[in-house]
Amino acid sequence: MLKLYNTLTRKKETLVPLKEGLFTIYTCGPTVYRDAHIGNLRSYLMADWIRRILSFRGHEIIHVKNITDVGHMRQEVLEQGEDKVIAAAIAEGKSPREIADFYTKRFLSDEASLNILPVNHLPRATDHVQEMLEITDRLLEKGFAYEREGNVYFSVHKFTGYGRLSGNLHESQLQEAVRVEADPKKNDPRDFTLWKKAEEGRSVKWPSRWGDGFPGWHIECSAMSMKFFGETFDIHTGGVDNIFPHHEGEIAQSEAFVGKRVVNYWVHGQHLLADGVKMAKSSGNAFIVPELKDRGIDPIAFRYLCMTARYRSRLNFTFSSLKASERALNKLRRMYVCWGREGEGSEKDGEVETEWIGRFLDTVENDLDFPGALDLVWRLAESDASTYAKHSILDRVDEVLGLGIAETPDMFAVPESIVAISRTRDGLRNRGEFREADSLRSEISQKGYLVQDGHGEPSIRKKDKSELREEMWDTISSSVDVTSRLAKGNECEFTIGIVANGFPEDAERCIRSIEAHSASESIEILLLDNGNEELVGKVLHGLQSTNNRISVIHADHPLGDGAAKNALVKLARGRMFVLVDPSVEAKNSFLPKLAQILEDRKVGIAGFAGLRTENMLHFHDGEGESGEMDAMQGYCLAFRREDISSVGLMRESFRFYRNLDIDFSFQFKERGFRIVADSDLPLVLHEHRGWSILSDQERDELSRKNYGRFLKKWRERADLLVVNSVR
Ligand code: AMP
Ligand code: ZN
Repeated sequence: MLKLYNTLTRKKETLVPLKEGLFTIYTCGPTVYRDAHIGNLRSYLMADWIRRILSFRGHEIIHVKNITDVGHMRQEVLEQGEDKVIAAAIAEGKSPREIADFYTKRFLSDEASLNILPVNHLPRATDHVQEMLEITDRLLEKGFAYEREGNVYFSVHKFTGYGRLSGNLHESQLQEAVRVEADPKKNDPRDFTLWKKAEEGRSVKWPSRWGDGFPGWHIECSAMSMKFFGETFDIHTGGVDNIFPHHEGEIAQSEAFVGKRVVNYWVHGQHLLADGVKMAKSSGNAFIVPELKDRGIDPIAFRYLCMTARYRSRLNFTFSSLKASERALNKLRRMYVCWGREGEGSEKDGEVETEWIGRFLDTVENDLDFPGALDLVWRLAESDASTYAKHSILDRVDEVLGLGIAETPDMFAVPESIVAISRTRDGLRNRGEFREADSLRSEISQKGYLVQDGHGEPSIRKKDKSELREEMWDTISSSVDVTSRLAKGNECEFTIGIVANGFPEDAERCIRSIEAHSASESIEILLLDNGNEELVGKVLHGLQSTNNRISVIHADHPLGDGAAKNALVKLARGRMFVLVDPSVEAKNSFLPKLAQILEDRKVGIAGFAGLRTENMLHFHDGEGESGEMDAMQGYCLAFRREDISSVGLMRESFRFYRNLDIDFSFQFKERGFRIVADSDLPLVLHEHRGWSILSDQERDELSRKNYGRFLKKWRERADLLVVNSVR
């Protein structure tokens, strides 16, 4: 029987349905004013696996997943006013309904690409406003809610169970929420909105007896779950970020409304991370299913990847791990087809099958241990069970895994024309004519087939997607993928490190100018193609053929700025590392000057444009000054590579470049190093396009976040500032 961790009781529990033979499951669904990213889909995969296990056990399932089709129901969007996408769509002459339809279709197609089974009901929030109003009315009647100027709030202190789901988690998050949204109309800052009065000019609104308005966010799930299931149901799923405030609010409303426990099992999936932080559109680290497809990656590989971690653990997404999953999946598919071919006409061995399937179920039913289940599948492959048994066991357990293994086309069914070429090739090989044999092998390969000599599988097969994909170059997925040379000796004087985020012509101008003025220096240039689109990558890649001192490193997605720069620092071989921004153009030789400043061992960073501050609140340009600074701007920033062992690499939580240079400078200051600028270096700063392409709002937000990170670490270290130095 399935055991799952219940967030409400903080225990693993055996699931017992309210009604024998039937499980009712409600899943908090997508907000359809944007695409769901693969992090969201990890949560839906979890629900899909729960459902598949229960079905496998013969239970009937009713699965409901809601569609949040009005973005402004979400607190986040509420605070920002009308959503950008909706605003843009309205500008294009589309209605919110059309937008919602558009993204709902895309969502369903993404789910289908991951073999997530369609749910029984997919209710839209906007079709259930009447039900939400009824619940709100009843809560007012029962004294659980109060009205203020057209708004209705849930009165948290009236509901004694409030906080039980989220425990102490909600204390800190509540403080945060209260800080952001101090609404003076509330009796208690913990109270949350059931109905909100429509402000002047709002287009999406509904009439109510408190005037025009729209429902709060949590109420939609109370209304839609109870509409389909009645007063109680079995399982409610979502991501961990739904626990508070969303599900805490939902429990309060629903239970206050019906007067008893509504949901028996609350199951929450941990987040998918990317570059070490939660995947979210606003963090700029989100990927969507169509992007995987565009890269030629089979979306089912993502399903496989999610099985490699427990649902209650965070999982860090990288393209290299996705591709590894894709390779494993393809291998499994090949084995499956081979087993099917070999096992044809054999006798069934019921006992062996029952035993393996039993072990498989025990594993997945133990709080969805899919890593264990995969392990078991690979052990089955190695086992001495007959190929027939292996084939039918995999067939059966895949009803739970959902890899769609039975749909695998037979890659060994090769057209006669290809077989003929291969036979000719065999003949050539037997006669020792290897050159000719190899050319036939390439011909076969170009036609999309692969010849394998001396392998366990038949000798020719169709290539799979990953083998057909042309990998233009090796890529890195994070700074961890780079083998560090930091402990190795110097092989040249200077490493110039440049990170290119788009604008290849800027990077080229920068590199050409440095080449032109460093003829007598021993340098290497490391250029990071930071997840740029293919065309840009190709231009950057081409630069290394013009000069053997240039190496181009490709990242498979845009790395955060800290990670991008660290990757270069780790790869560097120069005695000094000189970080140069693509907006910089050298007008004359400048490297010897930097080296000269760094000859003083007390100096940790030398560069062009320094920053000073009196109090860390405001950093001002050294105004073209030279001399000791509090920080060095990242336009041109040089240090001795050996110092990194004591100073450390840059902090990778800085995904955006701004203030990372200041933070890094403080790492040097903390170690007692000085920071010295020479504003006479012959450098020109062109438009910094990474900055100019951002809107004011984006600049503010990104800078503010990074400044917060900086302050959090260094606030107490005013002693490090030049103005306070006792030298
Ligand atoms: P949203 O559309 O933002 O409401 O998210 C839909 C679902 O995805 C919710 O259940 C969230 O908890 C979940 N979710 C959001 N971000 C992630 C993430 N990075 N990893 C896993 N689940 C997530
Ligand atoms: Zn919900």
